[in-house]
Amino acid sequence: MKLLEKVRKFMYERYGIDDLYCFLFGICIFLCFLNIFMKNNIIGLLELIVFFYAFFRLFSKNGNARRKENRMYLNMKEKIKRPFEVIIKNRKDKEHIYKKCRKCKTILKFPLPAKRGMKIAKCPKCQNCISFYAFKYQKIEIIKDKKSIKI
Ligand SMILES: [Zn+2]
Repeated sequence: MKLLEKVRKFMYERYGIDDLYCFLFGICIFLCFLNIFMKNNIIGLLELIVFFYAFFRLFSKNGNARRKENRMYLNMKEKIKRPFEVIIKNRKDKEHIYKKCRKCKTILKFPLPAKRGMKIAKCPKCQNCISFYAFKYQKIEIIKDKKSIKI
């Protein structure tokens, strides 16, 4: 109990875990595995630097600076993810089709069409015509009654 209290006292006012810490820790583990197979001193050094930087951030008392770093990391992550946004949304949501308007760059969400094939839609923002080929289509499930099977 005393040790737990000591740890709690030590961590009080310290920055703690955030997204950047998790990312750095992930990189550290990845470099660890890479170094097992490659046994390179440069990778080992890089791994140590990342490890100490992650722990420096974890125990830092300068919360404002760490929050600023984390915000920069999140903004950068968002910028990297943006070109793949439509692909990610199409993968996650199986009920709709997402398409980006070429003129105004708005992401449009269409309900899944009943048939496959060429579809034409109008962007509500700039009235630009968007044509796309729907590979996906609504699945119509046929449910049989137990009674009908018996007959
Ligand atoms: Zn548009």
